[in-house]
Amino acid sequence: MKILIVNAGSSSLKYQLIDMDNEKTLAKGLVERIGIAGSRLKQTAGDKEHIVEIPMNDHVEASKQMLKALTDDQNGVVKNMDDIGAVGHRVVHGGEDFTKSTLIDDNCIKAIEENSPFAPLHNPANLMGIKATRMVMPNTPMVAVFDTSFHQTMPRKGFLYGLPMDYYKRLKVRRYGFHGTSHRFVSQQAAKLLNKKPEELKIITCHLGNGSSICAVEHGKSVDTSMGMTPLEGVVMGTRSGNVDPASLQFIMKQENLDIDQMLEILNKKSGLHGLSEVSSDMRDIEAAAADGNINAQAALDVLYTGIKKYIGAYAAVMGGVDVVVFTAGIGENSPNTRKAVCEGMEFLGMKLDLEENSKRGGARVISAADSKVKILVVPTDEELVIAQDTLEIVSKLS
Ligand code: ADP
Repeated sequence: MKILIVNAGSSSLKYQLIDMDNEKTLAKGLVERIGIAGSRLKQTAGDKEHIVEIPMNDHVEASKQMLKALTDDQNGVVKNMDDIGAVGHRVVHGGEDFTKSTLIDDNCIKAIEENSPFAPLHNPANLMGIKATRMVMPNTPMVAVFDTSFHQTMPRKGFLYGLPMDYYKRLKVRRYGFHGTSHRFVSQQAAKLLNKKPEELKIITCHLGNGSSICAVEHGKSVDTSMGMTPLEGVVMGTRSGNVDPASLQFIMKQENLDIDQMLEILNKKSGLHGLSEVSSDMRDIEAAAADGNINAQAALDVLYTGIKKYIGAYAAVMGGVDVVVFTAGIGENSPNTRKAVCEGMEFLGMKLDLEENSKRGGARVISAADSKVKILVVPTDEELVIAQDTLEIVSKLS
């Protein structure tokens, strides 16, 4: 079966068509500037690149163009829409309503809508993508895959904040966690690589990209994770601050005469590696600047490394030990410097890196020394594949 994966943003639509018979990607595309002047679709399929520049006023028009590109005589990869067996949608926030991926029907849409206050930028955009594709593909089954659902196994001691219980009871303010598809995928791949079952292992997964989160996966289940009710909590990220003392925000807001929306904009868009380094939010730029002697860039790196170490230590404590540490996503997969700095001084925990293996490029692999008690792994993440696998599993049970 061929499955279309859709990740809709407020003015963009990312898509990928995967042939699940061999798990190969047939085409990848991005529609940008939906509803803004200069709408554009770019699709790549093998060595064929297809660009369409016509006005697209909304996600319905964008979805129509996506299907047109996928079925295009010259640049397409399928004959017609019926060749697409199902659609898998990435949805950011499932709140407490979704513990697993779910077939999309009216009730599912209503529940995603109800969880929109937790992700006011993302869920409404994801819903626009769902509604638009349902309009243009009314007979195709669709599945919602949530960033949060893997973490719904967290116990109360992992997800409650030290706030009045009433805020949890009435408002559902709690830790939800994100990047769930990635933490699930790389922890399962890690177990496979080590010829073990996830149920036998205590794994700490470090998803380090533009957004970063760390997860304690005990016996296959998420028991704690660094992101919170929103993706702002945890380690410093490209532009997000990660953890700060909440009271320091009141101080800044008073001194700088900012309202809460302006403060949150700074925390989300102007902080983290970008804010600290005053160079860039991109790890490659920061590493280059630090190597050139830029002390703020070095400080940004050091804060990140220390933050990751703290979570590894904390999650080893939470699980009563750790068997495997996994690095994934843009930084985790591609920055040997980050992996080396994070593992340095962690021998007391049983982590010993093989410096030569760490410096090599490659796919899923072990980078710890032969005598390291804790296995250290690099596992490339593939969130689209997880969405496709979940979608296939759910639609295969239909009819
Ligand atoms: P997203 O969260 O947007 O999916 P990615 O997982 O693609 O992000 O990660 C992006 C980050 O990975 C950027 O900070 C980028 O600089 C970093 N990155 C990518 N390649 C390298 C590399 N070779 N060395 C260091 N950092 C890298």
